Amino acid sequence: MMNPVVQFHGKWPFHRFLGMQEPFSVLFSLFNYLAHQHGMAKVREAIPASYSLRPYYLGFGYFGLVSWVFSMIFHARDFNITEKLDYYAAGASVFYGLYYTPIRVFRLEQPKKEKLLNVWTWTCLALYTAHVSYLTFWRWDYTYNMAANVAAGIFQNTVWSWFSITRYRKMHKIWAAWPGLIVAWIILAMSFELLDFPPIGGMIDAHSLWHLGTVLPTYWWYK
Ligand SMILES: [Zn+2]
Repeated sequence: MMNPVVQFHGKWPFHRFLGMQEPFSVLFSLFNYLAHQHGMAKVREAIPASYSLRPYYLGFGYFGLVSWVFSMIFHARDFNITEKLDYYAAGASVFYGLYYTPIRVFRLEQPKKEKLLNVWTWTCLALYTAHVSYLTFWRWDYTYNMAANVAAGIFQNTVWSWFSITRYRKMHKIWAAWPGLIVAWIILAMSFELLDFPPIGGMIDAHSLWHLGTVLPTYWWYK
């Protein structure tokens, strides 16, 4: 008879590989890191330095690189500090997406919209500071953290989907609908995060597949 695999402190038991606790989550985090690195090289090569949105595209890349480094560290060694750094960095990436989306969609980086951009920048900085302060000084709260990330995600997804649909209606070009399709893919990948099953072969769990699921849309995002 097979023994059922049980969770320990909310975590599945994993086989280690080269001392890493969750080797596939580390590997798939590395793939995401490389997707950002590749995308940033393409942005630097294809977009002239004078283009006003270029720093925002590269900003997305820097936030991505940092958050995937902390993700690799956390999945290699799960300590209190590595977990916090992973969550804060992932949160910063999600909040950056929240910040960046209206800038791109409504072109807030244009000089005539400078005031609006200032207000938006300070609003986002205040939101992220409040988010980190709550987790640090009040309570390390998984449910709240998930809810905050999902809320920021839903906001971005709604704006991007609306933007995609209007552009697609105007131009009837499939690439105009890409942002909406990328968003749909990410939602699909996210459902893996919610399907918690025991790791296949003691190594591949739902969380690692969620990290695998974001590689392609990241690569695609830079197009
Ligand atoms: Zn992770």
